[in-house]
Amino acid sequence: MENKFKTPRTTVMEFGGPLGALFLPVLLPCTVLYLLLACRTQDAGVSSLPSPLPSLRELWDLDAFLLVVGWFGLQAALYMLPLGKVTQGLPLRDGSVLSYRVNGLQAFVITCLLLGLGLLGGLRLSPLHDRCVQLAVAATVASFSLSVFLYARSLCVPDSALAPGGNSGNPIYDFFIGHELNPRIGNFDLKYFCELRPGLTGWEAVLTTMDIVNDGFGFMLAFGDLTWVPFTYSLQAHFLVGHPQELAGTSAAAIILLNGLGYFIFRRANSQKNIFRRNPKDPKVAGLETIPTATGRQLLVSGWWGLVRHPNYLGDLIMALAWSLPCGVAHVLPYFYIIYFTVLLIHREARDEHQCRRKYGSAWNEYCKRVPYRIFPYLY
Ligand code: NDP
Repeated sequence: MENKFKTPRTTVMEFGGPLGALFLPVLLPCTVLYLLLACRTQDAGVSSLPSPLPSLRELWDLDAFLLVVGWFGLQAALYMLPLGKVTQGLPLRDGSVLSYRVNGLQAFVITCLLLGLGLLGGLRLSPLHDRCVQLAVAATVASFSLSVFLYARSLCVPDSALAPGGNSGNPIYDFFIGHELNPRIGNFDLKYFCELRPGLTGWEAVLTTMDIVNDGFGFMLAFGDLTWVPFTYSLQAHFLVGHPQELAGTSAAAIILLNGLGYFIFRRANSQKNIFRRNPKDPKVAGLETIPTATGRQLLVSGWWGLVRHPNYLGDLIMALAWSLPCGVAHVLPYFYIIYFTVLLIHREARDEHQCRRKYGSAWNEYCKRVPYRIFPYLY
């Protein structure tokens, strides 16, 4: 039985293979530190760094580490509360289906209430900004520790539990990309929790995304979820604390509208695919045109997914631009997010394209013919 569902060996390695997997865990934490330090200098230029650079001793702060661990603990406790509905993921390779509790909104509201109570009781939030470099270092240490734990436990799970993309047999590569697909401690799903909580709350329709369906849980997602997302995606806010900008009412309104447009596209596109993958007969999607594939699954070819092949990326990029624009146009640094995100999503689209062509063969080629643009209509 076990052999029937054995995860095949990974033959195509991404991100530069083992060399990339060795290099990126050094480069990414250095990038986070560099961005935060540069942002705190007076000119906030791309080549500005404080002089002298902080020593290793100044970067490590036990209180910051305890704060990070305490935050993870609080979010884990809220995730385990029996609030919200329980939903099912997509069928796994062996036909089994995992259940997931959906209580991010409740966790968010409780967190806000706790924060409100804290503020009423005299809690000050400014130390979070003052010590953000130390907090980022602490989150990096936590991400590395989690990744080592994840790789160690992946060596003890059945072969069918491994991620198709992270089963190369090369420990460095598998550690980086994620060896086990859905690591769980009891009902506690480590990947789902890290994707949806400590660094970013409020995400929906995640159960049909690449992260959950294809990618294993290793350094790439652990560091991304716990360090990269919270500290680099909020760079604009760090920048504005030290470099406040004047924003005219009309500019603010235009930025809010742009963000609304991005959110609308992002949310509608992700929801449409999520509903369709869960139940193609759902009245909300039943009228859409589809292409059949040899796997028995269909591909949407009208609606949002008939506009471009990744309408959800388009919406996300429009929002990314709206989040940087309040920082004005005199500095490049607060535009790091949109620049990096464009590169990430173009690369991600290529990864997904490769996987979909492998899964769906000629049906995917037909889809590409019918919907020629990848992310930006009439451009790319
Ligand atoms: P998607 O949610 O876009 O999922 C891709 C999968 O959708 C494909 O593998 C395929 O899987 C299915 N699919 C593709 N085309 C069709 C179609 N025409 N009809 C039906 N199903 C189709 O992948 P991501 O995980 O990359 O993105 C999810 C969201 O997360 C996006 O909005 C993205 O912007 C966001 N994101 C944000 C990041 C960040 O750092 N902020 C990082 C990465 C993503 P199958 O057929 O097997 O169902």
